Amino acid sequence: MGRIIAIANQKGGVGKTTTAVNLAAALALAEEPTLLLDLDPQANATRGVGLSREEGRPGTYEWLTGAAGDAEVVRPVSTERLSIIPADRNLVGLEVEMAQEEGREFLLRNRLERLRDAHRFILIDCPPSLGLLTLNGLAAADSVLIPVQCEYLALEGISEMMGTLDRIRAAVHPALEIEGILLTMFDERTNLARQVVEEVRNFFKEKVFDTIIPRNVRLSEAPSFGQPIMLYDVRSKGSEAYLALAVEVLRHEQAKSPR
Ligand code: ATP
Ligand code: MG
Repeated sequence: MGRIIAIANQKGGVGKTTTAVNLAAALALAEEPTLLLDLDPQANATRGVGLSREEGRPGTYEWLTGAAGDAEVVRPVSTERLSIIPADRNLVGLEVEMAQEEGREFLLRNRLERLRDAHRFILIDCPPSLGLLTLNGLAAADSVLIPVQCEYLALEGISEMMGTLDRIRAAVHPALEIEGILLTMFDERTNLARQVVEEVRNFFKEKVFDTIIPRNVRLSEAPSFGQPIMLYDVRSKGSEAYLALAVEVLRHEQAKSPR
């Protein structure tokens, strides 16, 4: 049975999508069948794996509303063993349309149950808000991976996110686990970044991944070529870091359920 990991942080621009795309690709390259689900109307993960949102094919919105079936929305990409359910701007509408619907926070959970067996990992790229979409992502996930930028007030940001997760556990999903806190955009030249790493590690201990994602220009270039970093520049620091993160995620998994 596959593991469903939501990549979430209510703060914008912290590296959620970069992590979703590149961790998914790294897991697929480690021969684990992986599905990336784009749950953000900005559709950055969709474009990050080389699909355009202009092409008018059904995606997350049509799938969640029942207008399209699994086979119509799960799309292969150029990385072997990686597929994506793409998003489109129309996903914005879901929040409004479903606002009064009974069971609206479990739409995604119900839909994903059928896809779980066909994949080893399902990664969900959540939008930077705490609306119905993110709530669906967290309700459907086994665990949440929280990317955090190595910058001023990082601790406060994580604490806020932890409070949110407590409320979500109380309201919809008591078993929701923390996959880990991932420090991103680390710049080793600044004292501040090093202090942030130390503070976050002291406070959140083993919840923090050993792998730190460096600030790396290749990571910011890759999406405009529609490629995960391992296809765009496998030797870059960014690629090395996301491959190391995949190894760590796999190690966590194997410790829990030896195969
Ligand atoms: P949003 O909240 O809008 O969804 P996000 O949390 O998904 O944003 P990303 O889109 O992954 O964040 O990253 C924000 C910007 O920072 C992007 O332009 C991305 O290319 C860049 N970026 C992310 N991680 C790195 C990194 N490690 N090094 C350099 N640039 C990065
Ligand atoms: Mg994003």
